[in-house]
Amino acid sequence: MENMTSSSNFIKNIVVEDLNSGKYKEIVTRFPPEPNGYLHIGHAKSIVLNFELADEFKGKTNLRFDDTNPTKEDTEYVESIKEDVKWLGFEWDNLFFASNYFDEMYKRATLLIKKGIAFVDDLSAEQMKEYRGTLTQSGKESPYRNRTVEENLDLFERMKNGEFKDGEKVLRAKIDMSSPNINMRDPVIYRIAHSSHHNTGDKWCIYPMYDFAHPLEDAIEGITHSICTLEFEDHRPLYDWVVRECEMESKPKQIEFARLNLTNTVMSKRKLKLLVDEKFVDAWDDPRMPTIAGLRRRGFTPEALRNFCKAIGVAKAASTVDAQMLEHFLREDLEQKVFKTMAVLRPIKVVITNYPEDQVEMLEVPYNQDNPELGSRMVPFSRELYIDEDDFMEDPPKKYHRLYPGNEVRFKEAYFIKCNDVIKDENGKVVELHCTYDPETKSGTGFTGRKVKGTIHWVSAKHAVSAEVRLYEPLILDEEKEDGETFLDQVNPNSLEILNAFVEPSMKDAKAHDKFQFIRLGYFNVDPKYTTEDKLVFNRIVSLKSSFKIQK
Ligand code: ATP
Ligand code: MG
Repeated sequence: MENMTSSSNFIKNIVVEDLNSGKYKEIVTRFPPEPNGYLHIGHAKSIVLNFELADEFKGKTNLRFDDTNPTKEDTEYVESIKEDVKWLGFEWDNLFFASNYFDEMYKRATLLIKKGIAFVDDLSAEQMKEYRGTLTQSGKESPYRNRTVEENLDLFERMKNGEFKDGEKVLRAKIDMSSPNINMRDPVIYRIAHSSHHNTGDKWCIYPMYDFAHPLEDAIEGITHSICTLEFEDHRPLYDWVVRECEMESKPKQIEFARLNLTNTVMSKRKLKLLVDEKFVDAWDDPRMPTIAGLRRRGFTPEALRNFCKAIGVAKAASTVDAQMLEHFLREDLEQKVFKTMAVLRPIKVVITNYPEDQVEMLEVPYNQDNPELGSRMVPFSRELYIDEDDFMEDPPKKYHRLYPGNEVRFKEAYFIKCNDVIKDENGKVVELHCTYDPETKSGTGFTGRKVKGTIHWVSAKHAVSAEVRLYEPLILDEEKEDGETFLDQVNPNSLEILNAFVEPSMKDAKAHDKFQFIRLGYFNVDPKYTTEDKLVFNRIVSLKSSFKIQK
């Protein structure tokens, strides 16, 4: 784990050098998503990196939609991306669409043709692949490579005017078919695609390729440091070629860093879209999804995501981060902030046989022992309570300190309670526990007569509020793949468990996105989609503990 303090990283060093040497006066970064899906936690890493870098050096950051591929892009995605970036806590200086530069890009492509370094090619995609050569073998020049400038200008214009079908012709840069870098072997820079674009409609039927468009977008906006993931390292010579040969005034610098990979997580919009389309999840914002929208709905906070992104640091070497690290930052963020309340997920009824039928005691309990500012609430205690199934065993193993016949435990904030009888239904299932309480042992009265080993949570049956609680496991199992298996074969069939729970009455009016710690059970978020006037739905964000220890 590099750079826990985020005080410095190799990209920052480059920026400092460039500012000191006067290469750039002000730094300008950008976050350039393609609007072909919802953003995921990997994008958060890039967002945090770009925005914080600019902030630190008083520069600017653009949000730019890299919408040069008409077939997969959609306005729904544009809106979700804007919402997610804002929610993470960042404000862009400018909002741009690459598609607004199509005229400029067309002009620059024409310039390349006039300079004799771009040509229209009639080879099919398949032929082009054959001609391209391999890592060890140089490529072959296309027979169309030596068309005259006039012919190329004419054909390119006719491509634009819609005279040809998809795939019939492309525009290629004329660089070097024997370059050891395959990206430099006359890369395609424009292709024909007769499809409607979410922004430009049917104005265009030719679209620039990513490797041509991206450097131009950066240069047009005056981006100084164009930060991208490692796969683009071999594309950098082409990036620089495009900026130079298109005679762009501004000269951005491409810097690559390792993308974020997380255990048990797929992180590609294409794969996430498959999970949605194939109905493995409810939607892009399903709380199991690693999308920003999913994490938000699950209950993650912007602070937790930002702190996580800063802690994982920025490196050149690819690595996989343990997903539990993200959970660590959520706990750290919420620990002092949230109300700690009682909820029973799998209820068993407890009857305190020596407690008066109609009596109710209101116990004043602080909301968060570590944060007195959060105040306190009144928790009712009465003769009939619910406890969690896990806190009772009829025939317990050694070292089980919770409730079992003959054993006495503390009911948190209330009394010592002893189990005397177990009532079962005709199938032998435990339905009720008959217990007695000791009035002397009330919490807060300083009782020291004897000790008990276990403390368990509970809610008063008469006062409890019913709620649906959703528990999650990782959506993707990290297992060795067998031949022919895809990530869809690794979808965890048990990723969601829905329980009918009871929560203490103080949570009756909880609102979407209110967050709680249910003591002993974890952190929970009121689900904004499923919660209605008459039904509370909680998502477990994370459990209370994990085996994962963060290195400090
Ligand atoms: P995906 O395959 O998920 O669509 P992408 O890289 O094609 O990923 P873009 O929309 O092009 O997605 O990404 C916008 C920015 O986010 C790019 O600068 C990209 O480098 C960065 N990014 C995408 N995924 C990650 C990741 N896992 N870690 C860090 N940065 C990422
Ligand atoms: Mg992409």
